[in-house]
Amino acid sequence: MYDVIIIGGAAAALTAAIYSSRRAMKTLIIAKSIGGQAAMTDVIENYPGFLSVGGIPLMNKMLKQATKSGAEINFEEVNSIDEISKKNEKSIFNVKTTAGSKYKTKTVILAYGKTPRTLDVPGEGKFGAKGVSYCVTCDGPLFNGKNVAVVGGGNSALEGAEYLSKICPKVYLVHRRDAFRGFEYLVKEVKSRKNIEILYNSAVKEIKGGNSVQSIVVEDFAKGGTKEILVSGVFVEIGSVTKTEFIKQLVKLDQIGQVITNNYAETFYPDSEKIRPGIFAAGDLTQTPFKQIVVSAGEGCIVADWVSKKKK
Ligand code: NAP
Repeated sequence: MYDVIIIGGAAAALTAAIYSSRRAMKTLIIAKSIGGQAAMTDVIENYPGFLSVGGIPLMNKMLKQATKSGAEINFEEVNSIDEISKKNEKSIFNVKTTAGSKYKTKTVILAYGKTPRTLDVPGEGKFGAKGVSYCVTCDGPLFNGKNVAVVGGGNSALEGAEYLSKICPKVYLVHRRDAFRGFEYLVKEVKSRKNIEILYNSAVKEIKGGNSVQSIVVEDFAKGGTKEILVSGVFVEIGSVTKTEFIKQLVKLDQIGQVITNNYAETFYPDSEKIRPGIFAAGDLTQTPFKQIVVSAGEGCIVADWVSKKKK
């Protein structure tokens, strides 16, 4: 029996694990992988205490600190949480994973962030890990010397295109509108790169290939018509969504599937104003408008501290 099971492996989850294990609560982290969105960022220059740090090294430091504090970690994917008993507002939950494991806990902290949004076009699924990627930082170096496409118009797509333009002969940046939503300095940088071709008002309609990606079919909304462009890689950088399947019966969500919490990281029963004892949430999967690593870490601290106070 665990005091706390934390679902997730990035800043909110790992900080919650550091605090909860240091408060002598038996803590298990269940994560598919370590780092979340932060691990997809090459260089972080706004995390206090570090002038510049890579996303993966920063997350690995947090993991080391969590396990050194006593937290256990299992690399699995949670697919159900069941409340199996409730006495005097104290619940026991059964947490199950896709690998068939079952864990009992008094408290669940949901902190698994968001997952990359998909294009949902023919070929995207077929060429997953065969040329289609959702992370330039992770997979970009594999496309050294090859022509690639980046889809999206936010900071991830702009940063991705800028990085890839240094190692790829040609980068096509496909954006559905005629204006970007990223930082102005990044937009300027991308526009200045001679080997980046920006396809405005355009959408990828299909990803084609043999054993791996060979081309994309792009529709131009402004001019009309489609064209096929030869590329070996497609980086889908179009934001992220919250995975809600296994939590929507348990806690209250907003219209876009984010978990609604109060200032103590407590959740609510679905369609109710009543606090849901035993289930807490922190980080990017909540309604917080500030999707920053430092904010997630702060929320991880709040949730674990509050859980330990409630336990007394
Ligand atoms: P984002 O800001 O949500 O941008 C997503 C982009 O993808 C938008 O341009 C959007 O188009 C487009 N898009 C969404 N759905 C699409 C679809 N189905 N088909 C085609 N295009 C689609 O996501 P993000 O760039 O991943 O950034 C997420 C957050 O992380 C942001 O807050 C961002 O500032 C932050 N971030 C920060 C840094 C940094 O500080 N260096 C780096 C990366 C990300 P529209 O513009 O038309 O909506």
